[in-house]
Amino acid sequence: MWFILFNLSTFQLNICYVGNDSIMKNQILKVEALEKYYGDFHALKGVDMEVNAGEIFGLLGPNGAGKTTMLRMLVGLIRPNSGKVTFFGKHSLQELGKVLPRIGCIIEEPKFYPYLSGLTNLKIAGKYFPNKISDERINDMIELVGLKGRERDKVSTYSQGMRQRLGIAQAMLNDPDLIFLDEPTNGLDPKGIIELRQLIMRLKKEFGKTVIISSHILSEIEEMADSMAIINKGVCVSQGSVAELLSENIVTVSVETDDQAAAEVILTSLDFKPKKDQNALVFQAELEAIPNVVQKLINADRKIYRLDHKRKLEDYFLKLTAA
Ligand code: ATP
Repeated sequence: MWFILFNLSTFQLNICYVGNDSIMKNQILKVEALEKYYGDFHALKGVDMEVNAGEIFGLLGPNGAGKTTMLRMLVGLIRPNSGKVTFFGKHSLQELGKVLPRIGCIIEEPKFYPYLSGLTNLKIAGKYFPNKISDERINDMIELVGLKGRERDKVSTYSQGMRQRLGIAQAMLNDPDLIFLDEPTNGLDPKGIIELRQLIMRLKKEFGKTVIISSHILSEIEEMADSMAIINKGVCVSQGSVAELLSENIVTVSVETDDQAAAEVILTSLDFKPKKDQNALVFQAELEAIPNVVQKLINADRKIYRLDHKRKLEDYFLKLTAA
């Protein structure tokens, strides 16, 4: 049995259920040709997406790309105009009742009663689940998200990062298989971002959760995600394993030689645009161009102390979303 409770006073979504379906080993979510119109505006234009169990999946895209729209559809907050969704290898969007019990989510930002403690907020949220959420479970989740010692303080005294972590504790209360986090690091300071990132990684590594994170913070996805989809203007422009996508084509090359001024002249003559970055010259190049660069530097009697390259998600993302 399941139900969705939308608390008007806090604008908070609670998804509740008791169930014991076993987890499909591989594909946990498949989205096919999903479309969404808001009036005449075509917000999602036939998006396909596949997420495997146990991975962190990054849903990446610039502002207004359609990420929140996608997540809202997947938890039943809004309906798609067309398309097909399969959860856990067998359940459709029409069977959300069987699916929601296995999902935890923070869509947009977590909302709490600010004048109540974190602990009381979790106890209240726990009551909306048909199955009993034990005090022990609540305490375990407080511990997991690093709020032990602050759980009796009012949420109004919490930092943004603490509220996000409390949101994750709430999303974890019913031990879901799949967790949706919509822009979880929005508004966090660098320390908060690191803490949240570590927590999300633990959800995957220690608890085997599948986590789908929407973000426009590229480095975030690059560091955390196993797979990703890039959405731009309602279209999925790229999808796959982060490692594989980042290994394609254009790379950022960093080179250190005995004479950087001379090396810069050579690189410029090869039509690269080298920039100084501490001791290195950094430039974009196709992977296949690197041997020629090395050859030209050697021909010019330059000593190469270091040359490495990295496929930067930022470059890739900008390239795909430039249009
Ligand atoms: P952001 O990173 O800024 O949150 P997003 O990728 O989550 O963006 P969405 O919030 O899904 O994007 O919005 C996608 C597009 O749909 C945007 O152009 C937005 O203005 C539009 N949109 C979203 N919700 C509605 C709505 N209720 N009515 C009309 N248009 C909407």
